[in-house]
Amino acid sequence: MRTHNLGYPRIGNHRELKKAEEAYWSGKTALNDLVQTAKEIRRHNWELQKNAGIDLIPCNDFSYYDQTLDMSLLFGAIPDRFHGLMQQKQLCDIDLLFAMARGYQKDEHDITAMEMTKWFDTNYHYIVPEFKANQKFSLYSKKPLNEFIEAKSIVENPKVVLLGPISYLLLGKEKEEGFHRLDLLSNLLPAYLELLKVLDENNAHYIQLDEPCLSLNLTDKERAAFTKTYQTIHAKFPHLHIILASYFECYGDNLSTVLELPIQTLHLDLVRCPAQLDDILATNIKDKKLNLSLGIVDGRNIWKNDFEHSLTFIDKAKAVIGEERILVGPSCSLLHSPCDLDLEKESTSLTADIKQWLAFAKQKIDEIATLKALATGSKDAPILEKFEANKLAISNKKTSSLIHNPAVKERIKAIDASFSTRKNPFEKRRKVQENILKLPLFPTTTIGSFPQTKEIRNWRSQYKKHEITSELYDLLLKSETEKTIKWQETIGLDVLVHGEFERNDMVEYFGEQLSGFAFTQNGWVQSYGSRCVKPPIVFGDVYRPNPMTVYWSSYAQSLTKKWVKGMLTGPVTILQWSFVRNDQPRSETCNQIALAIRDEVSDLEKAGIKVIQIDEPAIREGLPLRKENWATYLQWAVNAFKISASSVEDATQIHTHMCYSEFNDIIDSIAAMDADVITIECSRSQMELLDAFADFNYPNEIGPGVYDIHSPRVPSEEEMVDLLKKAQKVIPTENLWVNPDCGLKTRKWDETKKALIEMVQAARLMRTQV
Ligand code: GLN
Ligand code: ZN
Repeated sequence: MRTHNLGYPRIGNHRELKKAEEAYWSGKTALNDLVQTAKEIRRHNWELQKNAGIDLIPCNDFSYYDQTLDMSLLFGAIPDRFHGLMQQKQLCDIDLLFAMARGYQKDEHDITAMEMTKWFDTNYHYIVPEFKANQKFSLYSKKPLNEFIEAKSIVENPKVVLLGPISYLLLGKEKEEGFHRLDLLSNLLPAYLELLKVLDENNAHYIQLDEPCLSLNLTDKERAAFTKTYQTIHAKFPHLHIILASYFECYGDNLSTVLELPIQTLHLDLVRCPAQLDDILATNIKDKKLNLSLGIVDGRNIWKNDFEHSLTFIDKAKAVIGEERILVGPSCSLLHSPCDLDLEKESTSLTADIKQWLAFAKQKIDEIATLKALATGSKDAPILEKFEANKLAISNKKTSSLIHNPAVKERIKAIDASFSTRKNPFEKRRKVQENILKLPLFPTTTIGSFPQTKEIRNWRSQYKKHEITSELYDLLLKSETEKTIKWQETIGLDVLVHGEFERNDMVEYFGEQLSGFAFTQNGWVQSYGSRCVKPPIVFGDVYRPNPMTVYWSSYAQSLTKKWVKGMLTGPVTILQWSFVRNDQPRSETCNQIALAIRDEVSDLEKAGIKVIQIDEPAIREGLPLRKENWATYLQWAVNAFKISASSVEDATQIHTHMCYSEFNDIIDSIAAMDADVITIECSRSQMELLDAFADFNYPNEIGPGVYDIHSPRVPSEEEMVDLLKKAQKVIPTENLWVNPDCGLKTRKWDETKKALIEMVQAARLMRTQV
């Protein structure tokens, strides 16, 4: 039996990579400083895994930005617009990589960045490969080899991690008409073979090829491509030990294909798909040579492994294929885990009780080594002690009153259909709302946040460090809120917002006020490039001890005769952007959050707030990887939203907001949410996103974003009028709202003011033309 790891976090224990990159980008440090930091992180990671006793330690799992982008550079799939930079040898590889990821505006150049999108169902973003017809591939960089040689000087058996050829192609995009990216395989495969040859010549023996697209629904053609590719690799390099890794889902329909591939080891994500082990052991696997990598330690979540439970899996496999053919590892790369729990000081939020249930990357590595020791019958005292401590933590988690709250569980049980149904259908509600709200056609509003200036962030950090009193902090925020309300009145917006100045983050702000949530000080996970997020941890039954937003919404409403929109984050989004419990279904945790938001909605309504927005930007990204699982997810996700939104009277207008989404394939679910108004990000697609709503005859009101808030550019009235006219062609005029794409917190006041003034003008002009 051997242990291995699929990948280690590369940001560094204290986000050293982020800091080094940002210092380099801003010109404060030299490239060599960054290179040294990166080297130091790799050395640290390798030594840590070596000291823990991991047998096969990954290399080339490091990246300055993203592992998919690394592959594009590695094989020279560099979009034409960057060729000028390459030819004049103006940029070294790392600079070219950054230019591809971030765009390049310097000297006479103005080159747009490559597109970025979510990595499967994670919160990690990868850079989408761009392909042209007859795209050529050849070895352009030596990164995997260099990192292998570097690793070799520290650990015995570095395993080279590469994104596999089929997934690399499938994750990319055709930038020209007339071909499918999979057709490029015949160009790409020789480049992979060349790479393997170089690695082989340098005595690399273990190669982990990640093919996470095997977690998706594939066509026969795509499956055939896997067979062909892996047969070709095997024919050329029969002596290389190829570990094929997919994760985040079962192999499903792809399993029989995968089991026939001439590879040495197949990795199984037994956290996401525990049932697959039995299926595989029931085949003729015993008579084959194939090794199995049992991905038993959760790479996607922060909970301590349940050793007893994991050992049952290992024992089952052992009984059929024997110890020698087993590898023990994490379910997926630990890229998605925070680095090290030891760095967390106990706090009022992260108590010692909670800490004992957690494991971050470093602890997971130790769990993998301990599991192997236990599975192979170690009688070492320290190992047995770890086993006992583990059993204790797991068992007290099952009964802890910190986690289990009978009142919450009772409330969940009492949920019935009435919780998720408004008192009357939309058409009826609409009339009541019209009479009360008295809004003009093309009502104008914003999505919630106004600029979070440096000043505001300073106030918050001073307040948190007790450098200013809570009274002063409150006063400062109030003055900012008041200014913002007054300004919105002056320019003539119809439905105002308070500006969300009191919020650090749309999930954390609510998590901090809900029971059942804990926060780390250092639990960072890479989101993209140098960007990291620190997701809250939902460890226990969730409830709302006190109102969370009523204070700010009522204050804002008290300043104006116009309507102020209450601002909440929806249950699905809070769930999606947190580490959540693994001892109950996600749907159950989501319902608990939904009830807490429902309570908040009721309190806002009681406080006289007539318009309440429940943001659900993450509803789409929660979709399962396989289509056959969509319906179940959408059913509970939509229902959770409705639980949060449906306690109110007809007169209360519920808004929701979604961004970065395509809506075509889930439009019926969005309609089922039955929000009175939905605002969506739309401007970058020139209103094309609206077609889904139009084709569906979406009945409720809708605010397609008329300008892109991701750019400092101030849009003109004419542009927005054009977009609204486009919208008017497909959506009835009386259903349309006018608003930006998303919140304005990342913008500057100057550009925000100019843009919103233009936007209000655009709405006024539209009103004169009906
Ligand atoms: N109300 C939030 C804001 O305006 C919405 C953010 C989001 O959709 N991501 O900031
Ligand atoms: Zn948004």
